[in-house]
Amino acid sequence: MKSAFNPFEMAQAQFDKCADILELDAATRELLRFPLREYHFAIPVRMDDGSFRVFRGFRVQHNDARGPSKGGIRFHPQETVDTVRALSMWMTWKCSVVDIPLGGAKGGVICDPHNLSLREQEQICRGWVRQVAKNVGPTLDVPAPDVMTNPQHMLWMLDEFEVIHGSKNPGFITGKPVGMGGSLGRTEATGYGVIFTLREAMKVLGMDPAKSLASVQGFGNVSQYAIRGFLALGGKVVGCSSWDQADQTSYYFRKATGIDPDELISITDRFGGINKEKAKGLGYEVLPGDAWIEQDVDILIPAALENQITGETIKKVSMRVRVVAEGANGPTTPDADAELKSRGIFVIPDFLANAGGVTCSYFEQVQCNMNYFWTQPEVLQRLDEKMTSAFKSVYELAQNRNLYMRDAAYVISVSRVAKACHDRGWV
Ligand code: NAD
Repeated sequence: MKSAFNPFEMAQAQFDKCADILELDAATRELLRFPLREYHFAIPVRMDDGSFRVFRGFRVQHNDARGPSKGGIRFHPQETVDTVRALSMWMTWKCSVVDIPLGGAKGGVICDPHNLSLREQEQICRGWVRQVAKNVGPTLDVPAPDVMTNPQHMLWMLDEFEVIHGSKNPGFITGKPVGMGGSLGRTEATGYGVIFTLREAMKVLGMDPAKSLASVQGFGNVSQYAIRGFLALGGKVVGCSSWDQADQTSYYFRKATGIDPDELISITDRFGGINKEKAKGLGYEVLPGDAWIEQDVDILIPAALENQITGETIKKVSMRVRVVAEGANGPTTPDADAELKSRGIFVIPDFLANAGGVTCSYFEQVQCNMNYFWTQPEVLQRLDEKMTSAFKSVYELAQNRNLYMRDAAYVISVSRVAKACHDRGWV
């Protein structure tokens, strides 16, 4: 029998491969293969009907050698501690690859917000903070939203933290609403960040954006801003896909003359689903969802979900494709990755391409700590500098050591964290 997929085992396997390339010593491997600290706790909540329920919560701090740890909190009925462990490790590498002075963490609560009232959700948020209030904070560990948590949850958590500590600490948590400590530019940050790295990739590959076509999977937060960013470079996007809640399947919306995000947004629901009848009325062809991968384009941008470029689907990728910019987390399976590598397709790996989100969260933390907020153009300018410089470091290493871009990104991240641990005298 095939054992169930375990994300932590996958994260460790990726680390082991990189540790071999770097020839890391045994103690450093032992330190970085596992989280530094884990908190597992109970959150008792009095429900609206007067009964009590106990929810299980976690905070896993993978590594904080480079600075306070950073990472989201997810609410999910199938949350497992191994998922949280894997995500915390990936956060360490993501913060390191863009060279922001933060470590990696992740948290979660096993619960389904769909079946909880707002008051019950507030109690879970406050209960989560009460359990770890001494172990998180602006100088220790800075949480953020993730799957099924939003700016309101972050604000309740901030409020509880400030009540416990008796002081204002807006830098404790990021992803807050703008005007309550949130940063301008956060909504655009991940999608634009993908395009800042893509722009640099096209420069080194000698590709002219004005002559380049892209196909995108998804029409949500990351994909909408990636599309806008690519159009601003002068490129054309021939189509994007989205999930249709009513039909329980995905569709691809194609327009040979190029899609227009503004007209598509006017017919999109809040979950990023596009209305197919209205799209047809606007001159779009509506195709099956997996058509995004088989277009005759130069660039593919998977920006919806994981496991999309697989050993099977990669067979449909056109010979014209030169770049894959991974907006989503984990869109490419290891077998497909080997195929991309052998076909010489240039990959901008997920934890580099989509690091714009965490970079802007870091900017939110910085602005909160000094209690002075930047304008949106200032935020995006700084984001561009960070993403561009991260891309250049990874690309130079890939060139100098003849490494695949994903391996080069891992080597940079892991070596920076390992060096911080050595310099501190930990191992
Ligand atoms: P989102 O919920 O805003 O949008 C997701 C989009 O994908 C929607 O348009 C939805 O209709 C579409 N979709 C869902 N299932 C699909 C399917 N089977 N086929 C085609 N389209 C489908 O999500 P998002 O915030 O844009 O995140 C997208 C990806 O980027 C995720 O992997 C996420 O983990 C990753 N990511 C997001 C951020 C961020 O700041 N939002 C940061 C880093 C990584």
